[in-house]
Amino acid sequence: MASTFTKLSAVAKSWCRASHMLFSVRQQTWQTAALSSKAETAPKSLFGSGDKDMSLRLPADFLSPEEQMMKDSVSRLAAEKIQPYVAEMDEGSQMRQDVIKCLFENGLMGVEIPEEYGGTGSKFFMANIVIEELAKVDPAVSVFCDVQNTLINMLFIKLGNDQQKAKYLPRLATDTVGSFCLSEAESGSDAFALRTSAVKDGSDYILNGTKVWITNAEHADVFLVMANADTSAGYKGITCFIVDRDMPGLSIGNKENKLGIRASSTCTVSLDNVRVPSSNILGEFGKGYKYAIEMLNGGRIGIAAQMLGLSQGCFNHAVAYTMDRKQFGRRVFDFQGIQHQVAHAATLIQLGRVMMCNAARRHEMGLSVVKEAAMVKYFAGEVATHVTSKSIEWMGGVGYTKDYPVEKYYRDCKVGTIYEGTSNIQLNTIAKCLEQEGLI
Ligand SMILES: Cc1cc2nc3c(=O)[nH]c(=O)nc-3n(C[C@H](O)[C@H](O)[C@H](O)COP(=O)(O)OP(=O)(O)OC[C@H]3O[C@@H](n4cnc5c(N)ncnc54)[C@H](O)[C@@H]3O)c2cc1C
Repeated sequence: MASTFTKLSAVAKSWCRASHMLFSVRQQTWQTAALSSKAETAPKSLFGSGDKDMSLRLPADFLSPEEQMMKDSVSRLAAEKIQPYVAEMDEGSQMRQDVIKCLFENGLMGVEIPEEYGGTGSKFFMANIVIEELAKVDPAVSVFCDVQNTLINMLFIKLGNDQQKAKYLPRLATDTVGSFCLSEAESGSDAFALRTSAVKDGSDYILNGTKVWITNAEHADVFLVMANADTSAGYKGITCFIVDRDMPGLSIGNKENKLGIRASSTCTVSLDNVRVPSSNILGEFGKGYKYAIEMLNGGRIGIAAQMLGLSQGCFNHAVAYTMDRKQFGRRVFDFQGIQHQVAHAATLIQLGRVMMCNAARRHEMGLSVVKEAAMVKYFAGEVATHVTSKSIEWMGGVGYTKDYPVEKYYRDCKVGTIYEGTSNIQLNTIAKCLEQEGLI
């Protein structure tokens, strides 16, 4: 595709090479950070320490030059290649093929896939920047990219053997969409009560069951299916299987008719005697529950990035309107009652971003994020709910119509309190962590 954004991935790759030579993300110096025109430079505060050795002490939301470049590039790409189609895709509940192609061609579907497999070869934090920037324009496109990067690619990168990586990673980086299949009709929050079975037959397994709510299933060619291969072991029988779309017995149901993120497909995936070779077990037999928990920690940070991007995108539209609209001879923005609400919303978004950046940096460094991921996912969902609701109010009647994009953000945000663990489940996790830390 000859476009302004041709091979964002190539640019990203060169940033990554540069970053590997010069510094690791958390060890950059203020000097190297100053190389970027847009990146923040040395401490500006009169009372700053002036300490040149700031490595490992940068603010969590500080962006390195290559992170800032990625953010700017994805922002431009979203404005030019996605924005024109947002309303159409929402109305029709259909992701456009050219949008999907554009995400792949620019390396956004394989952010962390190593370069040797054709990916962008970047890091988890960068993936979150991509998710956040896309969500500012269309949260449905954002989650399309999020699931691929934070769940599917990650599971292959972390757990795949050499053959599995060689077979799937180059495809996932270039043209193949993946879906993560955990939920079932009877097991949502109680995910490990899943009933999908995997019964050994020679060197194969026969999979039977029905997965529900599966994001991207309409377009996916590879499915990571959690199935119980040893029910006598309870949840410790849960195993992760790689299932290709063309394996006989796999079928995709109709798309759910949803409140929001309508362009993102959500379908049932049925497995009717699907024969899967044991070489398609991803990771170790019986460790699926563990992988799902660990992957969802990263996934939750991605959903937080989506919700915060959504909040910012909505906020930008609504505040611009208040600066234009006049009542009582003044801009709506000039009323203190509006200004205080705007300031409050901006503060919530900023707090969420700092939490998200901190959790993403921790995750990238290999530190525990169980509590941080649950906190930021919970908080970002609350922020998005508040900001989108207030945005409609700030715009009055027009905010309630489809003539402006704000009502869509309001619909899109609700899912942030449901998928990858509902808000109650995040709160349960946070409380459990506090108890383990001896804080309650
Ligand atoms: C748009 C969309 C996309 C999705 N994509 C995927 C996907 O790609 N792959 C996938 O596997 N799944 C996916 N899901 C499923 C999602 O993860 C589940 O919907 C979610 O985990 C909640 O499960 P449930 O819907 O069965 O709700 P339930 O578990 O039935 O929960 C109902 C209510 O009970 C509360 N509740 C349940 N247990 C507790 C508890 N212990 N303490 C307090 N409150 C509790 C919940 O918080 C909620 O308010 C998706 C869902 C949606 C809506």
